[in-house]
Amino acid sequence: MTKDVQAGKKLGDSIRVFVRVRPPANNLDSSVCLKVLSDAEISIHQKSCSKEFTYDHVVDQYASQENVFGAVGKRIVEGCVEGYNGTIFAYGQTGSGKTHTMLGPSEDFTNKFPDEKHGVIPRSLEYLFQLIDQKKEMHGEKMEFLCKCSFFEIYQENIYDLLITGAISALHLRESVSRGVFVDGVVEKIVTSAEEAFMVLKTGWNNRHVATTAMNRESSRSHAVFTISIEAKDKTGGVTKVRTSLLNMVDLAGSERQRDTGTSGLRLKEAGTINKSLSVLGNVIMSLVDIENGRERHVPYRDSKLTFLLRDSVGGNARTCLIANVHPNSYFYGETLTTLQFAQRAKMIKNKARVNEDMHGDVVALQTEIKKLKQLL
Ligand code: ADP
Ligand code: MG
Repeated sequence: MTKDVQAGKKLGDSIRVFVRVRPPANNLDSSVCLKVLSDAEISIHQKSCSKEFTYDHVVDQYASQENVFGAVGKRIVEGCVEGYNGTIFAYGQTGSGKTHTMLGPSEDFTNKFPDEKHGVIPRSLEYLFQLIDQKKEMHGEKMEFLCKCSFFEIYQENIYDLLITGAISALHLRESVSRGVFVDGVVEKIVTSAEEAFMVLKTGWNNRHVATTAMNRESSRSHAVFTISIEAKDKTGGVTKVRTSLLNMVDLAGSERQRDTGTSGLRLKEAGTINKSLSVLGNVIMSLVDIENGRERHVPYRDSKLTFLLRDSVGGNARTCLIANVHPNSYFYGETLTTLQFAQRAKMIKNKARVNEDMHGDVVALQTEIKKLKQLL
């Protein structure tokens, strides 16, 4: 039996949108087009024209990784321990700071854990296990947790397992009533501590680099999806309640348009496919915004692997946060404006997060009994 508990109004069901401005690049001309006006407002300007945008949170280049995690990740991780699904996306053009935000500086991704340079994913793992340990301390054997990690990338609409070194065969998506949409056959590593989970992340990240070089791929053109599933068995009451949740953390492919890649042949094909995946995400968001405005629309989740797999994260059963990463240099005005507009639309989407809870034991028996009695009546 699944109990639908609507997330409280105060927590809000909307996708939360954060904007993070990275430091200006010093190899480009020094003019900047962005100005952070407050912790929720930003303006973008070109010549005398200026536009202002408001989000749930805006941070400038001086924000620490800890601040970003505090604003973005904490609430989502807390929800996951209580049975809510959670998703964190990093969106933006190549070089805008997506990997820096999600993982940390990739050129300096050490074995040290925890590390102040680390981004949202390692920090989420650390916090998740802190919360789990607290629960275990409080309830002893009456509270059990089972956590499993998977890590894969979507490249040219194919899914490759990053926990298998040199994986060349693509995995497929399947759908079932009990699991929803899932990657069939993906490696799921059981982890019992934040350190173990971090090692899984690190292994996958190294494999991504190996695959990138060996297969002549560009990692900026793939979506990297790290997922941790959490199953909590709660025997603190008279019955055993099982809560399950998924925490997805996604470093999306670069959002830059094809014309900016200046490529041809194979690279052009890659750029086109990536555009497809991200443009379907854009179309899904557009359709959901239309629905919010009272229009009837088909939502094209199935048109790309990314949107089909993460269907619940956009307009469904999950607490979702989108981090829009932007470059402040005027040189990137066009891409930055597109990113801010994309993020603006995402803000309008309402999700319906609920606790995923099954009850076992006495309650199930009682309910069967009630059903039988009703039939007799
Ligand atoms: P993306 O993943 O979007 O392509 P990266 O995260 O790789 O971009 O960032 C590009 C470069 O900018 C990296 O050298 C990264 O360390 C640096 N960088 C990005 N964001 C920040 C930030 N907020 N503070 C300091 N350096 C940053
Ligand atoms: Mg990157």
